[in-house]
Amino acid sequence: MTETQFQDRASQPDADPAPAAQATPLVGLDRDDFAAIMVRLDEKPFRARQLWHWVYGQGAREFSAMTTLAKAFRARLQGGFSLDRPEAVEDKLSSDTTRKWLFRFADGELAETVFIPNEERGTLCLSSQVGCTLNCAFCHTGTQRLVRNLEAGEIVGQLMAARDAIGEWQLPSQGRLLTNIVMMGMGEPLYNFDNVAKALRIIMDPEGLSISKRRITLSTAGVVPLMARCGEELGVNLAVSLHAVTDQLRDQLVPINRKYPLAELLEACRAYPGAHNARRITFEYVMLKGINDSPADARALVRLLKGIPAKTNLIPFNPWPGAPYECSTRPAIARFAKIVNDGGLSAPVRSPRGRDILAACGQLKTESVRVRRRRPAPPDHAQAP
Ligand code: SAH
Repeated sequence: MTETQFQDRASQPDADPAPAAQATPLVGLDRDDFAAIMVRLDEKPFRARQLWHWVYGQGAREFSAMTTLAKAFRARLQGGFSLDRPEAVEDKLSSDTTRKWLFRFADGELAETVFIPNEERGTLCLSSQVGCTLNCAFCHTGTQRLVRNLEAGEIVGQLMAARDAIGEWQLPSQGRLLTNIVMMGMGEPLYNFDNVAKALRIIMDPEGLSISKRRITLSTAGVVPLMARCGEELGVNLAVSLHAVTDQLRDQLVPINRKYPLAELLEACRAYPGAHNARRITFEYVMLKGINDSPADARALVRLLKGIPAKTNLIPFNPWPGAPYECSTRPAIARFAKIVNDGGLSAPVRSPRGRDILAACGQLKTESVRVRRRRPAPPDHAQAP
């Protein structure tokens, strides 16, 4: 949101309250945007902080609930702004308590968000794009054409709508169920860097949604030129979808490898700001039967990650209708994990969650579908999918 976008509305305080459709959404605006609103409305700067607290700290759904704000100010906000979040058009609960929402945004586009409660933490998996351009061979989202990037407000809005649904705005942060964020839903977050970065800065603000960078993990298929900025500007944990130990196989499984091959990717990991032994990079590795799950692959993985503060996360392949792969057998996964572990790397096997509602890794997909294309070359510009 640029200043000029809300300038016209906000500079007409005496105008009749706007119809909701024209109201400027507050969700997704950052501190600078809030400050600019106060300037336009000729309100004192401290009002921005009060409003911030109501919007992001309390999750207020109505301006009338903002009792520390003067009535006249509330009325002006009501006239020009909205507190809308995306609308949940589906809300599915798995037998293992994983919950998946299908959210509809203002223009009707759809994306999915998954909540994975565990005993010690609750992780919300956010989408960064409607669809995805990466076309990873084993991922369901890759069979959907990209429709568009999500705006910062649509990313933050997924978290706010989830907090609404779980009903935990008023709890102290230690008592919350929703404690962690992973940017692992639909889309490639580093192909939508500006919006993802703005959203994460809002989410990390300690006077608002207040989820610390240590509890946020961004997963990338390997958009090498933006990895350093992710570490420097956001400081969140990094996960890399590795999935193969040779360029030959990775070119097929994760086609962005043709643009940023393994050597470059691993170099960017070595240089990732903030990576050290206490804060390792997670290398995700999907277990595909007969494709990448041999003991030789496991040994090569250990060699490849030498010298990088790394841990691995073995993800049993989650099937989807028409998928061209099968999940590795349990013994194959166990054998693979043991070799990686013996090589000095932590190698937990991610337990599939929410498979019965197609909420597990790589199963997300919405209706905006097109027949699967041949895999196109990765885009030329990291920012322009
Ligand atoms: N585009 C980002 C974010 C997606 S994260 C990325 O590629 O990292 C989702 C994770 O699930 C990725 O590691 C992805 O490779 C993995 N994944 C995709 N399809 C899968 C499937 N069918 N089974 C298991 N994991 C899958």
